[in-house]
Amino acid sequence: MKDSRGRVIDYMRVSVTNKCSMRCRYCISDNSKYDNNILSFDEITEICTVGAELGINKIKITGGEPLSREGTVRLISRIKAIKGIDSVTLTTNGLLLEKYAEEIYRAGTDSVNISLDSLDREKYKYITGCDSLDIVLRGIDKLYSYGIPIKINTVLMKGINDDMDTIELARDRHIDVRFIEMMPIGGGRNFGPILKNRLPNGRRLAERGNGPAVYYAVDGFKGRIGLISPVSAKFCSECNRIRLTVDGFLKGCLCYADGVDIKNEGDIKAAFERVIKNKPNEHCFENRDNITEKKDMNEIGG
Ligand code: SAM
Repeated sequence: MKDSRGRVIDYMRVSVTNKCSMRCRYCISDNSKYDNNILSFDEITEICTVGAELGINKIKITGGEPLSREGTVRLISRIKAIKGIDSVTLTTNGLLLEKYAEEIYRAGTDSVNISLDSLDREKYKYITGCDSLDIVLRGIDKLYSYGIPIKINTVLMKGINDDMDTIELARDRHIDVRFIEMMPIGGGRNFGPILKNRLPNGRRLAERGNGPAVYYAVDGFKGRIGLISPVSAKFCSECNRIRLTVDGFLKGCLCYADGVDIKNEGDIKAAFERVIKNKPNEHCFENRDNITEKKDMNEIGG
C-alpha cells in the first residue's frame, strides 16, 4: 500500500514483548512501563496476515528482548508461512542467542540484527547494565556458524563508545557492523546524536542498502560497515515502515504517539489503512519539543 506521500509501505516491525533483561542507557528510561496486556501470537499472526494482504512483505521481530518471550522463534516460522511475506528478521540483544541459534536457523529467519555497543567488557557493562559481553560474543559465533546473515548494531555515545571498536567484528567474517545515530526517544533523550561521517579507508558502496544504512567497504575487512543517521541525514522520504507495539498499537512514525489501537478498532484492515494514510511526512527529532512519543524504545520496538 502507498501512503499519502506516495511511499510504498511494505515493512512492519512487530514487538513481541516490552521486557528486556538489559538496561541500555539510551533505550530504557527509569519510568519504562511493562504492559502485561500484550498481543498473543495468534493475534500477531492474524495482524501480519492482514498486513501481507495489504502489501507488507517484510517483518522484523523486535521488543524489549524478543527471545525472552517463550515461543518467539516458533512465531517466526508461523509468519514465514504467511502468503506474501518474503522475509522475517529478528533483532536481539544476543543474550539468548547461543540457546536459540539452531532454532532461529531452522525457523528460516532471513537475518538477525544484534545490538552490541562495545567490545570492551567494562564499557559494555556500563552501557547495558549487564556483564554479558562474552555470552553475546559466543552467541554471535554460534549463529554465524549456521550461515545466517548477521548485522551488528552499535548506537554511538559520545565519549563512551565513539572509538567504534565493534568494527573489528567485520574484519575476519562476513558480518555487517552498523553505527547508529542516537535518537531522542526513551533513554536517548538524555544524549545528543553523534555519527562519524568518514571511516578510514572507507569506500562508499552504494547510495543505500535495502534499508536506511549507507554501506562502506573498508580495506582488509570482509564485512561491510554501515552508517545509519536518522537525525543528521533524515531518510523519511524513503521510509517504508510501520510499527506494531506489543499491546497492539499500530504506529506510522517512531517520533509521534499517533496511531490506531487495533484491539479497540476491531477491523484490522481499517486500522492498517488509517495508519498508512496518516503516516507523518517526516519525523521531528531535530526539534525535540515537537516529539509526541513518550514511550521508551523497548515499549515500541525500536
Ligand atoms: N532487544 C532487541 C535488540 O537489542 O535489538 C530489540 C529491541 S531494541 C529497542 C531495537 C534497536 O533499537 C536496537 O538496535 C537498539 O540499539 C536501538 N535503539 C534503542 N534505543 C535507541 C536510541 N535512543 N537511538 C537509536 N537506536 C536505539
